[in-house]
Parts: sequence; C-alpha cells; structure tokens
Amino acid sequence: MQTFITGDLLKTPAGREADRILRSCVHCGFCTATCPTYRLLGDELDSPRGRIYLIKNLLEGQEVTRKTQLHLDRCLTCRTCETYCPSGVEYAHLLDIGRRQLAVKIKRSLADQCFRFLLRMLLPYKSRFAFLLRTGQVLRPLLPSRLRSMIPARHKTRELPGGDKHHRKVILFAGCVQPALSPQTNVAAQRVLDRIGISAVAVSGEGCCGAIDYHMAEMDSTAAFIKNNIDRWWLHVAGGAEAIVTTASGCGAMIKDYGYLLRDDPAYAEKAARISALARDISEIFSAADVTRLRSRMGGVAIRTAFQNPCTLQHGQKLKNTTGELLADLGFDLCQVPDSQACCGSAGVYSLMQQELAGQLRKAKIGDLLAGGPEVITTANIGCQMHLQQATEVPVKHWIEVVDEACRDAST
Ligand code: SF4
Ligand code: SF4
Repeated sequence: MQTFITGDLLKTPAGREADRILRSCVHCGFCTATCPTYRLLGDELDSPRGRIYLIKNLLEGQEVTRKTQLHLDRCLTCRTCETYCPSGVEYAHLLDIGRRQLAVKIKRSLADQCFRFLLRMLLPYKSRFAFLLRTGQVLRPLLPSRLRSMIPARHKTRELPGGDKHHRKVILFAGCVQPALSPQTNVAAQRVLDRIGISAVAVSGEGCCGAIDYHMAEMDSTAAFIKNNIDRWWLHVAGGAEAIVTTASGCGAMIKDYGYLLRDDPAYAEKAARISALARDISEIFSAADVTRLRSRMGGVAIRTAFQNPCTLQHGQKLKNTTGELLADLGFDLCQVPDSQACCGSAGVYSLMQQELAGQLRKAKIGDLLAGGPEVITTANIGCQMHLQQATEVPVKHWIEVVDEACRDAST
C-alpha cells in the first residue's frame, strides 16, 4: 500500500511504525469476512481493511470526524484479522497508533470522557475494584436483573501461601479484576502447578497488566503500569523464576507485548523484552510428563466441556490449539464448537462500551458453545468468563479450575 504520512508525523517513531505496517497491507480483503463487526454490520468501514484505510487517511492528514472514531471504537481488537492476513499485517499495533492520533484530533463527548475516566480509575486497581464488587454483591438482591446478572456471586477462597517449596518456580500473575471476580482461578492454578512440582509465587505490588489503559489510547499510564510490573518481577526473575504465568489470556497477550511497547525506552527496553520472552499462558507450562501425571491424579473422569478459545489466546498469543489439545490429552470430552475462531464480544471493556454489538456476539457464541451439550463451558480469560456467564445457566469456568476440581474429587 502506498502511503503519504504527513512529514512531521513521519519523523516520529509512531509515524514510522505506522508507515511500515500500512505498507505491508496489500488490500486483498482476505481479512474482511473473518471480522466479527463486518459480519454483523456488513459495512466495509467496520472491517479491518476499511479501518486500515481510515487510519491511513487520518495519518495522511485528511479530515477525520466522529464517524472515523465510531468505526475505530467498534473494533474489538480481537485480532482475528491478523490470524487470517496472508501478509502478516500487524493490525493491532496500527490500530493503537491510529487511536492515539485520533484522540488528539477528535474530542469525545463529556459523558464518554467521564465513563472512560471512571473505568480507568476503577478497573485497574485491585482494591478499588474489589470494594466496588463487594458493594454490588451486598446490594445484588435489590438491583435490576440486568445489573444483577453482571455481578457474580462471592467466592470465598482462601489464598494459598506462596513460597519456594519446589526447586522450580514461576511468577503467577494476579491481574486487577480477577482476584475479586474469580479468586478461585489462581488458587486452582497454584494447586495444579504444585502437583507437578512447580511453586507459583504471587508478587506483591504488581498491578494491572496495562491493557485497560492501553486500549483506551492512554500510553503514559500504560507505560507506568508496565514499568511497575517489571520492577516488581525483576528480583524474582533474577532469583530464578522461570516464567511469568498468566491465567487470563488478555493479560498474557499484553505482557507478551511489553518488549514491543517499550522498545524505544532506553531504561526499560531490554528488561521488557526479557519479561515478554518469559511470559507464558498457563497452558504452555505443562510437559508431556506433567500431563500424564495430572491425568492420573484426575481419576479418569471424562468431563464434557465446550472450550471457548479467547481471541487473546488464539489470535493475540497465537496459541490456536494449545489449550484444546491439552484438555483432550488430560482426558476431557471436548464438544465440537462451530465458528470457534469468533469473538464472544467481551474484549476487555468493549462489552461495557459497545453493549449492543457485544450482546449480539455473545448470543451467537453461547449458541455455538451449547450446541454439543457441555456440562461446563471452559475458557482461559476472566473477561470472557464473566461475559458468557451472564447468558447461560451452564457454569463457565477457567479450565484450570476444572482440572483442579477433578484432581481433588479423585483424591477424596
Ligand atoms: S490486512 Fe491483510 S488480509 Fe486485510 S487487506 Fe491488508 S493484506 Fe489483505
Ligand atoms: S481486530 Fe477484530 S474487530 Fe477489529 S478489525 Fe480485526 S477482526 Fe475486526
């Protein structure tokens, strides 16, 4: 694709990066039919190729309007288009540059600004979010049904002590909203890792992975979150932690991008690249011997499950089949899920900001997940888990919890 990015912008790292990405797109349109928003709305401007043109026009100094903002806002950042692009266009990185440039040119409405500010002040902060959720849980019976369905019941899970029981150790990333919404997930992860001889260390002082601010085009606060996490983890990495393990694939995708995002930061570039290289989704931790060990501990029960493969896992982290294959190796009875590459509509804060589209995507996804009659829907991301659970009575859990439950049931 030919580009004519304006001179001043082209002198900046972001301008040069956008130029490089734009030039890799051959506007073939192979990505279009795979894009969830294009499939729903049928508008080329709600497709990856259409959005690439909108960003190109923006960076070339052409007039942009609220309509441009609307089409970019409607993008889920699911990265399905990247999976299907034959030219390897780094669409998500281009979108982030586009969103930041657009934020300078188009002012949002006051209501929109306030809503975004509120989300940024609440969600990434563990204790603020936990307080908000606890209040919601107490008031739950009094709330209208729509709001009630958004608030999960409280799980009282005793946090396990960390420690260096085993020679092998990993950092287990907690994240910001997951400890309050689903504390049992990381406790289950800790127990499962313990069974295969790995100590999972919880690091105090770490915060949000930065994804919430990043997807709202707030690069300064994003960088602050990233640097804090790197500083908190660094001692443990130096002390022999072999990986930074995530049980939320959205956070995992973000941490794997730290190296890219801080590549021009003289003080942090090298450390960020090392952290990204150490980041692992929990499905990547298990060797064949670990699987055999766990399978024998699970008591041979064939749990019928539909695995919802989050976009941040299959498209963001490019781990398309890892978890499905692992679950099959562990003895799960896996339902076939039609359209398994499609987004469920959660997409971080998307389900809060684009409720109509997110609801339509969820409806289709739930239909696909329930088609095979699962006893439990399994996932690998807290956002998808909460979003999907609002639309079904079938339990939606992180798969590591189900593995842990099976091990515990078998041992009693
Ligand atoms: S992003 Fe990839 S698939 Fe889409 S139009 Fe560009 S080159 Fe083609
Ligand atoms: S990231 Fe997802 S929603 Fe956005 S353009 Fe690509 S496929 Fe469409």
